[in-house]
Amino acid sequence: TLFTELGLDPALCAAAVARGYEQATPIQARAIPEILKGHDILAAAQTGTGKTAAFALPILHRLARDPVSSGPRPVRALILVPTRELAAQVEDNIRLYRGQMPVRSLMLIGGVKIGPQMEQLRNGADIVVATPGRLLDHLQQRSLRLDRVETLVLDEADRMLDMGFIRDIRRIIGMLPAKRQNLLFSATFSPEIRQLAEGLLHQPIAVEV
Ligand code: AMP
Repeated sequence: TLFTELGLDPALCAAAVARGYEQATPIQARAIPEILKGHDILAAAQTGTGKTAAFALPILHRLARDPVSSGPRPVRALILVPTRELAAQVEDNIRLYRGQMPVRSLMLIGGVKIGPQMEQLRNGADIVVATPGRLLDHLQQRSLRLDRVETLVLDEADRMLDMGFIRDIRRIIGMLPAKRQNLLFSATFSPEIRQLAEGLLHQPIAVEV
């Protein structure tokens, strides 16, 4: 499948093509059209399959097509990841794909001072990429709100559970609006992941690659 056949905004196709992506990877070809339609996704995907673009491009597409008209920018997409390294990778990808789009993304990770992150949050962000612990710190300090989140991504959900983040994840999910799109990516499917997916996802499209 060509990138240009997925239904993505032409600027995003151009960004992908400029990066040297001509063909969509299998997960992109299967997930992107469903995500654009608004479905929840349960994706079995290892790293290296192109999963980051599979969720990042449709999120950017929606933000570009349907901008918030005025006022401070609410967080509209929340991407939870297990590690700082993965957060940085995801954020880098988003920066590359968004090009000149008027979309702000922000990374909230532990192990660094919280003050500068709070400062950045004051300017608003459309997309937040976060590790669960630090995101909860911010929620406790009320430095951000999640009541306008439209899309939740759990990336490498199995690793998040392995690292003991399940309670944090459930608390975060409890602060999101009930009406939202959920995208769960995991390399493996333990009973715990299935249970999380069952409670979280609404009539998900299963994507396996
Ligand atoms: P990921 O699985 O998201 O970590 O992506 C693995 C690598 O594949 C990254 O370096 C991406 O830049 C690259 N990639 C993602 N999508 C494509 C594509 N459609 N064609 C070629 N490379 C891609």
